[in-house]
Amino acid sequence: MANEVLEKILGCPSLPSLPSVAVQLLDMTKDPDAKVGDISMLVQQDQGLAAKVLKTVNSSYYGLAKPCGSIERAVMYLGLNTVKSLVLGFSLVETTGSVGEDSVFDLKVHWRTSLHGAVAARELAVITNVAEPDDAFTGGLFQDVGMLAMFVALEHEYEDVLQESGPRRSNLCLIEQQRLGLTHPEAGAALAGKWSLPSEIVNAIAMHHEGDKAVGREAALARIVALGCIAAEALATGASPVKTREFADKAREWFKITGDISPILESIASGTTMLAKLFNVDVGEEPNIRVIMSQASDRAFELQMETQRQADEMAEKASTDGLTNISNRAEFDRLLGEAYAETQSGGAALSVIFMDADKFKNVNDTHGHAAGDAVLIELARRVKETVSDRGRVCRYGGEEFAVVLPGVGIEQSKDIGEEIRSAIEAAPFDLTAVEDTPDELPVTISVGVSAMDAADPARVRSAEKLVLEADEAVYAAKKAGRNRVKVFGRLRDIDEAAAAVAPAETNEAPIEPVRNRDVAVPSEGGAPLILLFEDDALAATLLKTVLSKGGKARVEWLSTGSRAAKRLEQIASGALPAPDLIIADLNLPGVPGIDLLRTARAAPAIAETPFVIMTASSEAEDQRLCKEAGATEYVRKVDLCAGLPKWVETLLTAARGGAMQAA
Ligand code: GH3
Ligand code: MG
Ligand code: MG
Repeated sequence: MANEVLEKILGCPSLPSLPSVAVQLLDMTKDPDAKVGDISMLVQQDQGLAAKVLKTVNSSYYGLAKPCGSIERAVMYLGLNTVKSLVLGFSLVETTGSVGEDSVFDLKVHWRTSLHGAVAARELAVITNVAEPDDAFTGGLFQDVGMLAMFVALEHEYEDVLQESGPRRSNLCLIEQQRLGLTHPEAGAALAGKWSLPSEIVNAIAMHHEGDKAVGREAALARIVALGCIAAEALATGASPVKTREFADKAREWFKITGDISPILESIASGTTMLAKLFNVDVGEEPNIRVIMSQASDRAFELQMETQRQADEMAEKASTDGLTNISNRAEFDRLLGEAYAETQSGGAALSVIFMDADKFKNVNDTHGHAAGDAVLIELARRVKETVSDRGRVCRYGGEEFAVVLPGVGIEQSKDIGEEIRSAIEAAPFDLTAVEDTPDELPVTISVGVSAMDAADPARVRSAEKLVLEADEAVYAAKKAGRNRVKVFGRLRDIDEAAAAVAPAETNEAPIEPVRNRDVAVPSEGGAPLILLFEDDALAATLLKTVLSKGGKARVEWLSTGSRAAKRLEQIASGALPAPDLIIADLNLPGVPGIDLLRTARAAPAIAETPFVIMTASSEAEDQRLCKEAGATEYVRKVDLCAGLPKWVETLLTAARGGAMQAA
């Protein structure tokens, strides 16, 4: 039945259609390169319309400092969206001008609801900053266009529906569904779609009685329009006080709007009165908000609001750090968890920036704890100011701060990290307010950045992992001399089981392996040290696991040829100790295993160290070359897999200093 009814509505010959200026404007504004001049010219084609738009933008509703005399200026002062929403609004009024005259369909009620809904949605969008105010306005104004369409197309059938739902329109959607198989939000959305209104507005019309069910990218606008709809119901003549409470409840639940709602309702009521005159529609008496509020505020309601206010206050306290007044660790965990889940379910990228004040203990020790506190407060302030709305700054603990940056990828977060670092270093901290301290104190921080790529959300297996990575990057920044930014992911020569792909080579200064913060020291009676150069994460993890099982060996894994080469250099120069066994993949990105073997053989410190080449290749020539270069053993990966236990024994024996006996 629904389809039939919908076809009847959309195909109804007497159904209003948007004037051609509105249709062309919608079309034109789809083009991001549309020129202001062309748009103004189009609107001016309809002089009556242009005059109404100008009168409205110059009214006190928009409160412009200087009056604007042309559409072109209106577009420049207020933006294209405002002009578009007004053109659509006036078009709607014109289109539906005489619908429902002398019938049960009360046009005055219709406009009262629609205009209150539009003004409310716009106001709420401005307050919450979650949706474009002019889209909200248009969505609110068009919310009940489905009722008009159903009334025009279905006549008596729809009159019966209206009659049954009564003047308060209780259960209107339910009755529509039962009698016609189609609701007015559905019909309205279909019509708006036919008129080519933008999809978020079509969606908002479809959801205007079901804000709770709104999901996805377009949910914010849908909820703004839905809340505007509830406001309109609360401001309707003879409305039930239940609606006022519902408005307060949903404002809090959806948008965390707490406290007294009367100023919002006042502003909606007066804005509607102003606009109704300009739109030349009759919306009846302006509602008296004091009366509405007093009806709604029986004891129970007041009590409920007060309890909620206290709960909100406590929640706020529980999530804020007392010293710096920014979000605390618990809030950081919550924010990060949310952002992580979003990225996992197909959202954009996600970054975490970690920072730790350099030599902060000295500040306390030299100038006292009060000076330390003052530094932390100013530090938090500067970081917050620098990050602004690009992310949320939290105090992670002590002198450590962290930023969650949803939607921000590695390159951008690295730049933000650098901005933060330089904002701290740029000017010494003012300590004049703290007694017995110098007036100024230079402060620096070390910054670590880690990110999750939207294209590869599987790389980071948990939100905690992202934090660990950023923390490791901070550690690397400290090691490299402090007061600098390091990026994780450009230091993946550490155990990275999740990384199935070899890390990209970068010209960034290499960061030392930080998982096991100090490089392992070889045998000395303990378990032998094995270096494993392998780019295939699965193979490396397997081998590392079986070789180090039960503490029989300590395995350090490096996943690129260049990092392996760097390590051999450090061993050769005596900076790092020699291992007891080296296993290298022949086919390594950067530097092939055979070259690593030659480097090792040329360095006295490891010239004699057992060196096993592992390969997927079955070329006899490769084997010959490796043996010639001094490989202790040449193992094909298929053979390794087929006789793994035996191979493990053989490798461990070699690492312990025994002779290798090919398995
Ligand atoms: P590094 O550059 O290696 O980070 O050196 P550091 O001195 O900053 O590192 P460490 O972690 O040793 O010292 C941190 C100090 O921060 C120790 C602790 O007393 C101090 N601290 C932690 N929380 C607060 C606080 O709320 N107020 C003050 N004044 N000091 C704090
Ligand atoms: Mg510290
Ligand atoms: Mg520190």
